[in-house]
Amino acid sequence: MQKQSSTSKRHVVIVGGGSAGWMTAALLSHQLSAQDCEITLIADNDSAIGVGEATIPSIVRLLKTLRVDEAEFMQACDATWKLGIQFVDWLKPEHDYWHPFGVSGARIDGRDLFPYWLMNQQRPYHAYSLHWAAAIAGKSPHSTTARSPIGATESYAFHLNANKLATWLQQRAINKGVQQISSRVTNATVNETGDVASVKLSNGNEIAADFFIDCSGFESLLLKQTMHDEWIDWSNNLLCDKAVAVKAPGKKVVPSHTRSLALSGGWTWEIPLQTQRGLG
Ligand SMILES: Cc1cc2nc3c(=O)[nH]c(=O)nc-3n(C[C@H](O)[C@H](O)[C@H](O)COP(=O)(O)OP(=O)(O)OC[C@H]3O[C@@H](n4cnc5c(N)ncnc54)[C@H](O)[C@@H]3O)c2cc1C
Repeated sequence: MQKQSSTSKRHVVIVGGGSAGWMTAALLSHQLSAQDCEITLIADNDSAIGVGEATIPSIVRLLKTLRVDEAEFMQACDATWKLGIQFVDWLKPEHDYWHPFGVSGARIDGRDLFPYWLMNQQRPYHAYSLHWAAAIAGKSPHSTTARSPIGATESYAFHLNANKLATWLQQRAINKGVQQISSRVTNATVNETGDVASVKLSNGNEIAADFFIDCSGFESLLLKQTMHDEWIDWSNNLLCDKAVAVKAPGKKVVPSHTRSLALSGGWTWEIPLQTQRGLG
């Protein structure tokens, strides 16, 4: 059975139901009217990676775009605030350096602080960062009494449970009319111009659409397998190519930064969530 896209209504198909697929579905269903555009997400269930826990500030823009309440999002995704990353023992033992979000220091004559700091490196560069000062004090990006510069510039992020994020986005997208099909895409057909025209499913159905978005992760079903987009292998440049991710009980005091510790044979991360810690 082939499902045709109607001429009056556009049809977008997303292949993959991990973080990327459900983010795409939530954003498109928020921005496009259900009357003008039908959105379908196809995924074979339960094979998303789901370990990603530390985000960067663009996630705040995603929440603002979706007009969601930050507290509700944090509750649903077991999330905590993240103001930056602390790197311990990377340069030498008993030493740390930071990657705080946002800008460090005030601008001088319209220029970034960095060139002035380079001339006279009396303190580490991160010591000029408000985010660093807030992180070592275990603060949140928001103030209860005034408008916080970190909150106002949206220069913060979250640690979160990636599986819970995907489920939360999925609920929002489905509430906005996104159709979900639980099936494996076996292959795709292309039209005379070389664009993807339809995808074939393991349940025997074929879905045609006006636009396809490949969120199939490592499988890269449409981009690599169908459109033959080149895969550039960087594995020769990777010093570390294996990871073991585990969960540990949460701590009573939750830090507002990620911790990365260098070891002789690799490195570990520690990501604090509300109820547990992600370690690897
Ligand atoms: C150890 C580790 C730690 C990480 N830590 C972080 C971190 O701290 N922060 C961060 O941002 N990122 C992190 N990442 C990266 C992050 O987890 C991934 O980039 C992200 O999960 C990829 O999401 P995705 O939706 O693109 O792909 P996936 O999660 O792989 O999802 C792919 C989806 O496509 C579906 N699919 C695939 N093929 C088909 C098919 N033929 N038919 C139907 N469905 C199909 C799958 O079922 C799945 O739903 C980490 C990754 C690893 C491995």
